[in-house]
Amino acid sequence: MLYARLTNEWLAKDTGRKVKIALHAKFAAGERTFAYAPLGYIRHPEIKNSLAVDDETKWIVERIFDLAVHGAGAAKITKILTAEKVPTPDWLNFKRYGTFAHIYEGKSEEKACAWTIAQVRSILKDETYIGNSVHGKQTNISYKNKKRIRKPQEEWFRVENTHEAIISRDVFEQVQGQIAERRRQMKNAADTQIFAGLLKCADCGWSMSFGTNKSNKTAFSYFNCTNYRQLGKNGGRCTAHYVRYDTLYAYVLARVQYWSKQAEISEEKLLRKLLKSGNSERDNAAKKQASELARAEKRKAEADKLFTKLYEDWSSGRIAEFNFTMLSKKYQTEQQELIEKIDRLKADLAAEKQTKADAEKWIMLIRQYTDPAELTAELLNTLIDKIVIHEAVKEPDGTRNQEIEIFYRFVGKID
Ligand SMILES: [Zn+2]
Repeated sequence: MLYARLTNEWLAKDTGRKVKIALHAKFAAGERTFAYAPLGYIRHPEIKNSLAVDDETKWIVERIFDLAVHGAGAAKITKILTAEKVPTPDWLNFKRYGTFAHIYEGKSEEKACAWTIAQVRSILKDETYIGNSVHGKQTNISYKNKKRIRKPQEEWFRVENTHEAIISRDVFEQVQGQIAERRRQMKNAADTQIFAGLLKCADCGWSMSFGTNKSNKTAFSYFNCTNYRQLGKNGGRCTAHYVRYDTLYAYVLARVQYWSKQAEISEEKLLRKLLKSGNSERDNAAKKQASELARAEKRKAEADKLFTKLYEDWSSGRIAEFNFTMLSKKYQTEQQELIEKIDRLKADLAAEKQTKADAEKWIMLIRQYTDPAELTAELLNTLIDKIVIHEAVKEPDGTRNQEIEIFYRFVGKID
């Protein structure tokens, strides 16, 4: 009720502050405010706003922490609880106090043990079970929408030993350590997904799959052809195309760093390099195309005029039918050839212009990443279209050679 009152918009700020101070005094004295006691507890029969251990449900909390301390994560624990038909806290509240009747009334027993991972996770992190009361974990971001946000831990208001613990501090801390470690591993796994969607097998064109080799003392990650992985060696559809994650990462990072450096030194030089211009042969070819186009257009204008003249001569009877037919055929053929030539030259020149615009676009993109220290999904997807992994070749001296082709966006393969 107190919280509900605090959220009311009409509550003057000053009053709010006073209530808060009064609340803090209550908290400090070990009081808790709660609608329902957390799983494993009941409202204390004698002490106001305090908890007492519930002998009927305490075992569920103990079971959850026991599973966790023996290495099970929240997902696995959730599965086990559901399989063992352990009732959920909400179901217990419904049975005892009739709460959430709209959800549970007349529902099968299955609903009674429908645990969620979030539920298990929040129990594993709840300091209530070591006898602490933690207040102010959340704050109301807005009085209007009552959307709650979590406050940073240092702003929590923690009072120790406000009630009897169910879980020992040792076990609790061990579980917190495991949760942190699992989160770290998850983050690492997420990091390796930066290449998602970019890697392709050079031989079959399938995507590459991510895997981790845990049989070694230090686990390492790798990619191999999905086609090969799914159908196996015996399917004979493709070969492994195995590449280690760290090898690939180092190579791609080095290439991106190289191009970023080139762009930093001189955008103009890089542009010329990308267009392979400055190359006099290519420059001359482009000039030749432009003048050829001008000549073709001029000739076509002349041919049009000649044909018009020919037509007039024929209609006024100045030339014979036979000559007209022969000459008009000749002009028409020439005109057709000129039209085709003009179209081709125009397309070539436009492509050249487009290539230049694309190269400029890519340079603009890579300029956003000056001397990148690491690869991110964003960087890779901004700059790179695909990375093609070839099968490694083992040299007679035992070294392993593997071609990795990077196709950049707009400019393609440029190294
Ligand atoms: Zn393949």
